[in-house]
This record gives sequence, C-alpha cells and structure tokens, in this order.
Amino acid sequence: MDIRDVIIIGSGPSGYTAATYASRANLKPLVLGGFMEGGQSGGQLMTTTEVENFPGFPEGIQGPELMQKLRQQAERFGTDVLDKDVIKVDFSSRPFRLWTDEEEYSARAVIISTGSAAKRLKTEAEERFWNKGISACATCDGALPIFRTKPIAVIGGGDTAMEEALYLTRFGSQVTIIHRRNEFRASSIMLERAKRHPKIQWKTPCALENTFGNTLLERIEIKNVSTERTEQIPANGLFLAIGHDPNTSLFRDQIDLDQAGYIATDGHTRTSVPGVFAAGDCVDHIYRQAITAAGQGCMAAIQAGRYLESLE
Ligand SMILES: Cc1cc2nc3c(=O)[nH]c(=O)nc-3n(C[C@H](O)[C@H](O)[C@H](O)COP(=O)(O)OP(=O)(O)OC[C@H]3O[C@@H](n4cnc5c(N)ncnc54)[C@H](O)[C@@H]3O)c2cc1C
Repeated sequence: MDIRDVIIIGSGPSGYTAATYASRANLKPLVLGGFMEGGQSGGQLMTTTEVENFPGFPEGIQGPELMQKLRQQAERFGTDVLDKDVIKVDFSSRPFRLWTDEEEYSARAVIISTGSAAKRLKTEAEERFWNKGISACATCDGALPIFRTKPIAVIGGGDTAMEEALYLTRFGSQVTIIHRRNEFRASSIMLERAKRHPKIQWKTPCALENTFGNTLLERIEIKNVSTERTEQIPANGLFLAIGHDPNTSLFRDQIDLDQAGYIATDGHTRTSVPGVFAAGDCVDHIYRQAITAAGQGCMAAIQAGRYLESLE
C-alpha cells in the first residue's frame, strides 16, 4: 500500500483549499471527500443556491458551481479526489491509517475538514420552504433581497439565536424570536441586548407548526406549547438557530475534542496528535463561513507541509 504524504478528509471549501495548497506544494494529496445526507460530495454549499459573499464572484455564484470550481482547482495541480466516506481512523501509530468501506489508506499527515451540520427541525413545514425563505445562517442569507424590509422570524433560545436576531434587524422590518420555553439558554448580556432592541418581538413558549406561501415563504403558523393555541404571523424569512453538530464522532477516541464535539486545535490547525491537522467548520463554531473554512484549509496545508519537512 502506498503511503501518502497527505490525506484530506472532506470535500468542502476547507478540504479543497487544503488540497489546492498541498498539491501546489507537490504533496500529491488524496481527498477522501465523503458524502453528505442526499449522497453528494462538496460539503454544505452543495445544499444552497446563491453565495454572495465568497470573494472573487462579484455577481454571486451558485453553491454547487463554486464547489465544482474549487474541486477543479485542486485537481488541476494533481489532487486525487475519491468520493468516499472515511469510516475509521487510527492515529495512534505512524503512518496514520484510514479506512473507507472498501479500502485502507495510510498517510504521514492528515487534514480533517469534515465540517458540521446545522440542526434542522426535519419537518415537512421546514422542508417546503428550505432555501425559499428558510435558512440556518443569517450571515449567509440575511442580506438577500427577499428579506429586505420584510418580517423575519428566528427559532432558538441560545446566544446564536440572539446574535442572528440582532443581525437580522439590519434587514428585516421586524424580527420575532420563537422559542419553545419561557427561559433562555442565552447569556444575560445577549438576552438583554435583544430585549432592548425595538425591532425584536418574542413568542414563547412556542413552536413552529406550519409554513405558508406561494413559491417563497410568506407566513408561519406557531403553536403555544402550553396553551396549544395556534396563530399565524407574517414571516418572509425564518432562520433556524438551534445549533450545529460537528462531524467529528469518527475522531472521538483519537484526538482531543471540546465539550461540544468540535476538534480542539492550537489556533493554527494543529490537533492534539502531531501530524493531524483540522480546519473549517469541524473546528470553528464561531464564524462558520466558506471563506473562513477555506482560509483554515490553507493554514492546515501549510502546517502539514512544515510538519512533513520536520520529519525529513
Ligand atoms: C444552506 C447553507 C447556506 C450557506 N451559505 C453560505 C454562504 O452564502 N456563504 C458562506 O460563506 N457560507 C455559507 N454557508 C456555510 C458554509 O457552507 C460552511 O461554512 C462551509 O461549507 C464549511 O466548509 P467546511 O469545508 O469546513 O465543511 P463542509 O462544507 O461542511 O464540508 C465537510 C465535508 O466533509 C465531508 N465529510 C464529513 N464526514 C466525512 C467522513 N467521515 N469521511 C469523508 N468525508 C466526510 C462532507 O461530506 C463534506 O464534503 C452555508 C451553509 C449552509 C448549510
């Protein structure tokens, strides 16, 4: 079996950027790109339409097209990409070993770029207007014209929900925070900031019941979970802020993770195992953007190159 210099796990912006840098550094990386729910490689941006904030595309670009370009760029310099899920890793000895359901691979350095997934309600009501008014990322979608001066709702009760709601007040005519409890997990400072904001309204203890609209979301129905009373409110946007799950269960016994399951790094993509690097949304629970993931992918590839040099 060939021992690769670098194997990259994941085919999102972070994985492909790491691959472009590693292949241009002559490290001949292999990307084990994985499949997401729905059976495609390319990461989270495969599930969206317009991406307006990735530098270099002044008119915006469709998420799948951007991922196709990032892949082509990595392949142009000699990256091998296999759309395979890694199902097991062993970082306890050198070279590192990785398995897909068909084959075993080994590498001197590994870059983990397995991303994360926004938690979804997984209801028909959500599915109907996903990407048509319903989103899980205010930074990504809040500025879109369909939300400008329109009523917006945010579901969640933590700091992220408060942050998203405050951010969305820049665009929406009003923002309604919907939370299924009367108590909030958000820190008191964030809660107070949201409570003081004149554009923010509250619906608690309430849950989403239904969604309505023609092609785009126009109204939502919510149910008070203690009185069971339902009401419809206008909402052209609905943002879910109910958390993210990092795709890191595979590494639980292999490298240090933080309490929420994100990979712990030294801030320069180095994990607790020398030679294993991590980048993108599997590490970052703050920014969660394609460009920050790509930036970290670049860092990981440079760090991996330096690590390999140090072995010689
Ligand atoms: C609907 C939506 C819209 C968004 N819009 C924007 C936007 O407009 N602008 C923006 O900047 N950001 C946007 N984002 C956020 C952006 O998509 C993420 O920040 C970015 O994709 C993170 O990149 P990543 O490489 O870290 O991980 P991901 O894109 O999550 O990719 C992770 C990759 O790892 C793979 N993987 C996971 N487990 C395994 C395994 N065991 N073996 C092999 N592979 C594995 C996955 O299949 C996937 O290919 C959006 C996100 C969503 C969900």
